[in-house]
Amino acid sequence: MKIFDTLQRRKVEFVPIEEGKLTMYVCGPTVYNLIHIGNARPMIVFDTFRRYMEYKGYDVNYVSNFTDVDDKIIKAANEEGVSSEVISERYIAECKKDMSDLNVKPATTHPQATKEIDGMIRMIQTLIDKGHAYVAEDGTVYFAVETDPGYGKLSHKDMNAMMSGLRDLQVSGEEQKRNANDFVLWKPKKEGEPYWKSPWCDGRPGWHIECSVMSQKYLGDTIDIHAGGEDLIFPHHENEIAQSECATGKDFCHYWMHNGFLKIDGEKMSKSLGNFFTVRDITAQYDPMVVRLFMLSAQYRTPLNFSRELMEQNKASYERILNCTDKLKDLLKTASGDELSAEEQEQKAKVEEFIREFETAMEDDNNTANAETAVFEIVRLANSTAGEGSSKAYLEYVLGVIRTLCDGVLGVITDRKAEGLDAEIEDLINQRQAARKARDFKTADAIRDQLNAMGIILEDTKDGVKWKRA
Ligand code: AMP
Ligand code: ZN
Repeated sequence: MKIFDTLQRRKVEFVPIEEGKLTMYVCGPTVYNLIHIGNARPMIVFDTFRRYMEYKGYDVNYVSNFTDVDDKIIKAANEEGVSSEVISERYIAECKKDMSDLNVKPATTHPQATKEIDGMIRMIQTLIDKGHAYVAEDGTVYFAVETDPGYGKLSHKDMNAMMSGLRDLQVSGEEQKRNANDFVLWKPKKEGEPYWKSPWCDGRPGWHIECSVMSQKYLGDTIDIHAGGEDLIFPHHENEIAQSECATGKDFCHYWMHNGFLKIDGEKMSKSLGNFFTVRDITAQYDPMVVRLFMLSAQYRTPLNFSRELMEQNKASYERILNCTDKLKDLLKTASGDELSAEEQEQKAKVEEFIREFETAMEDDNNTANAETAVFEIVRLANSTAGEGSSKAYLEYVLGVIRTLCDGVLGVITDRKAEGLDAEIEDLINQRQAARKARDFKTADAIRDQLNAMGIILEDTKDGVKWKRA
């Protein structure tokens, strides 16, 4: 498995700390609103990476946090006249619903910042005791970046160039800081804000400390992989490294994975541009599996553009997969034969070739784009080779491969949703058959039109009427 490590700035071979085990931390959302479609990218791409590692037999301990104390949450709470907790708990529940719709596996642990305050106070105290942090007059605790010779190694920033003078600090109202890059570990409470008691002042933690503390608590001092969107490289992840490594004296994390950004029609998504979409907006229009297929259609580090046209393309691709599995399942109802024919043996060898292509793609820094291509090749092969004469063994084999790679690893569910509608459709089809039998063609045609309007296409075959969704 090769991973592009942001810290080393190159693709490197992944070697786990403990053989057969993977410890992974993915920075999760700040919960003050429904998650947007950009937030879904890290969720889906790193969930797929996790699924692949599990497919390879790894025992994965996957942690993803919810940031539930933050200025934006407090603002939303004040606007609604409720507590921050009401806002964060509501949007954690909504986020979990979106994740479930998108078939993102729940993390092994989903810690929340507000439930880990004691651990944060302990780590901050350690940093003060070791001379890496200082307490300002008003009780704010800052991390002193100059005490960490490694500071800047992840974002590859030249810290000397970033050191600003005292005047700059005065201008920005941060004259308490010793250095412009020093960042907040703990800050005093303000009127109307949630706060906790601490040795320095009543207040709340800065943002970065939560991830250092939760990563250590749930995964250990040193972990295999830390991941998130590329906007988190600086300052968030740079600061996490500084806090953790200065507190423990050990390496914080061996590999850093960062996803590229999702843009909308080539532009940055923003409320002011009117191109801001929540996951909920999109899943109201498209099956969440189409969203998933779309998200995985590019390698995770490349920028990805979201457009209606691309969604339509992915919708068609998803329908192709569903039609294939529908066909295989249908054939299996009557198929027999536990042995592959000589010809089927050859087809199986071709499928195995595509499985190798799938694995090669995933081993190359989670290249889901190429992995999807391999799945489409298998679907194409299945469509052209499976038929009435196919053995049960062959059909089961091909369906099993699709289920393992597509459902299992890509997380794209290939079973058509057993919508409550199915019974209604079958019912209409039976009524149409009855009408035809009674030579009432007008009624039969009307029912066919009604079904067409519902997006159902009927096919008259020698085994009776079959239907599929358009
Ligand atoms: P936030 O709630 O802003 O902290 O974001 C949660 C996660 O979503 C982080 O890993 C971000 O880097 C990521 N993220 C936010 N916006 C986008 C975007 N437009 N494209 C891809 N990832 C994003
Ligand atoms: Zn984080």
